[in-house]
Amino acid sequence: MRLPVYLDYNATTPVDSRVLETMLPWFSEHFGNAASRTHLYGWTAEEAVTNARKQVAKFLNVNPKEVVFTSGATEANNLAIKGLFEKKSVRGKHIITVATEHKAILDTCHHLEEWGAEVTYLVPSSDGLISLQQLANVLRKDTILVSVMYANNEIGVIQPIREMATLAHSVGAVFHSDATQAVGKVTVDMHSDGIDLLSLSAHKLYGPKGIGALIVKQGIEISQQLDGGGHERGRRSGTLNVPGIVGLGKACEIAQKEMKSESERLKLLRDRLEQGILSQVPHTFVNGNIAARLPHLTNICFEDVDGENLLLSLKDVAVSTGSACTSASVLPSYVLKVLGLTDDQAYASLRLSLGRFTTDDEITFALQHIKEVVEQMRVGSLM
Ligand code: PMP
Repeated sequence: MRLPVYLDYNATTPVDSRVLETMLPWFSEHFGNAASRTHLYGWTAEEAVTNARKQVAKFLNVNPKEVVFTSGATEANNLAIKGLFEKKSVRGKHIITVATEHKAILDTCHHLEEWGAEVTYLVPSSDGLISLQQLANVLRKDTILVSVMYANNEIGVIQPIREMATLAHSVGAVFHSDATQAVGKVTVDMHSDGIDLLSLSAHKLYGPKGIGALIVKQGIEISQQLDGGGHERGRRSGTLNVPGIVGLGKACEIAQKEMKSESERLKLLRDRLEQGILSQVPHTFVNGNIAARLPHLTNICFEDVDGENLLLSLKDVAVSTGSACTSASVLPSYVLKVLGLTDDQAYASLRLSLGRFTTDDEITFALQHIKEVVEQMRVGSLM
């Protein structure tokens, strides 16, 4: 068994060997620029991009023309929110989002506030869910955008996206969802979910880092944020990252075939780990709603334990507190704080996220290790 056991799949996933194999020829053998229209090198690259675009589109039940490749979900979120605001700010300047969104949403909204946007940050209840009534209460005639993440990166809670999209549409607002943590884990059907703009990232679904997409429903207009050669039908300039795009396409194709059985397997493992901790380690509880959530992760608070020491002592499992994107700071997770946890409880919470390569033995090991470390810490604190 490779130590430390990797239980941080929400931070990133390893590239699946099948994805890597598909990508390799596109670095030096077929190196053409997909925008080169005058020779075989360019046509070959363009064909690979077209194929990947179809794979992504099929997986999300959208039209390939609706796929805009970006450098990842951070860029996709920026493009969605800033791009929409630029187009629609004449009609209205009101945006609705949620206080537990990823920083790539929250900071983008803060940025737009400097440019006149009026942003409402909905506060979920202590289980992480937003009620439809809450959303209905703040919708206005001048609301141009509602942005709600599909599944939370820290606690995995899944929002009632379809119903929220319907509500947003009732006032003529566009509905965006950051589905970075949901794509490849649960079925995301953009069409039947009623989503107009959707962000995703390859490195969360066994593809490479530095590539993602914004899906832009036909008829929704956004202003491009990167000016230049007019790639991606004028929505995102920049020479296409052909190996990355091929990798994202393959990752989607694999997920489409394997997601259902993989999620069932991971849910069993997650439940065993979670139940094991809850029943064998006293003073623990799960953060967030346990019914409406992703199947492969749990976020558990170990009360009366020093969070920093806990992480330092857990040498043989790789887990995180809060999200990796804010792990440079020593502040407690703002998501857990919004749910009502104290600073100490937030520091003492672990996100355990499993993935495609997690084994039964690893879960047995992780459970034992976590139990022993917490027991030792608690005994130590009594001395
Ligand atoms: N949104 C969510 C929900 C995420 O979890 C992440 C990655 N932590 C991002 C956006 C940013 O994605 P990327 O790393 O592709 O920029």
